[in-house]
Amino acid sequence: MLKKHNFGAGPCILPSAVMEQAAQAVINWNGMGLSILEVSHRSPEFEEVVLKTQLLVRELLSVSDNYSVLFLQGGASTQFAMVAMNFLSEGKKAAYLDTGYFALKAIKEAKLFGEVDVVATSKDKDYAYIPDNFKVDAGSAYLHLTSNNTIEGTEIFDFSATGVPLVCDMSSDIFSRKIEVKDFDLIYAGAQKNMGPAGMTLVIAKNEFLEKGKKEIPSMMDYRIFRDNMSMYNTPPVFSIYVAMLNLLWLKDQGGVSGIERSNIEKAKLLYAEIDRNPLFYGTAEVAHRSRMNVTFQAIDKGVEQAFLKFAAEKGIVGIKGYRTVGGFRASLYNALPLSSVAVLVEAMVSFEKIYTD
Ligand code: PLP
Repeated sequence: MLKKHNFGAGPCILPSAVMEQAAQAVINWNGMGLSILEVSHRSPEFEEVVLKTQLLVRELLSVSDNYSVLFLQGGASTQFAMVAMNFLSEGKKAAYLDTGYFALKAIKEAKLFGEVDVVATSKDKDYAYIPDNFKVDAGSAYLHLTSNNTIEGTEIFDFSATGVPLVCDMSSDIFSRKIEVKDFDLIYAGAQKNMGPAGMTLVIAKNEFLEKGKKEIPSMMDYRIFRDNMSMYNTPPVFSIYVAMLNLLWLKDQGGVSGIERSNIEKAKLLYAEIDRNPLFYGTAEVAHRSRMNVTFQAIDKGVEQAFLKFAAEKGIVGIKGYRTVGGFRASLYNALPLSSVAVLVEAMVSFEKIYTD
């Protein structure tokens, strides 16, 4: 069967070479006569997988030794609560930037633990931009940002220091571009965009910051417990970690994060140029804040939208329907999506315009 051009936002977009290796490991891992799913997570073979995956994260993102690399569960949504449970309490305040759907979810959870100061919001323009003019109270426990707004299609490119610890949800753009880990105190990301299958959550945290965390919290919510137990305090998401390792090896082969960043810039440029040229479509995010991972755009009317969805599907293009609450289109350009697929989408938009306006 012809492989589809998958612009979907998840739950997991991986290169086909990685999918094939993963499939083989499910049947017979490393010729051991056992599936990766049934090998003990306490075995030296699997411990090596965890170690290697951690080292790959460190290498690809240049993470220094004063940071811990952890593999947790519960998705980024659990991090919304876990961050606040660890670092916020009654009488304390944390700053949050409201840039859309997931930022709001993080805000909602944090309010359960202490005072939340929403320092700025872009709600006034349906989250089409990233607010950049805000003040953070020096007494805040941390400032929480969402680096890429998966639904609204905006991305933060400037992480200026504010003088308080920086916590960032990087679920949908981690490993897609270079970042300075040292600018952040804690980064978290659900694995399922650019890292591996859903089931594991990556956390990269400064040890000094982790020490500031509360002590009286459940073990499963305590970062230090995972740090001190090699991310294996309980049964880890074995398959997700293993496939993440395969995928990070693939990423290394692509020239690492800087190699993939060049390709991601090229993909985004190609698609945005067509959206801006084609009279049947328009982009929804402000140009300076356009995401390279999730390109959100609209058709000039519902008729064009429906007709193009059908036209694109006939060409093997899937996953371009916008998020249910926003409508329109969203083309996700995660690392595993090749430039050739973006070219197919752009060609489809060009030929659709000719047919539709004839
Ligand atoms: N944050 C962002 C930016 C996301 O894109 C997502 C999911 O797509 C989440 C949080 C929620 O992640 P999870 O489903 O892993 O809880």
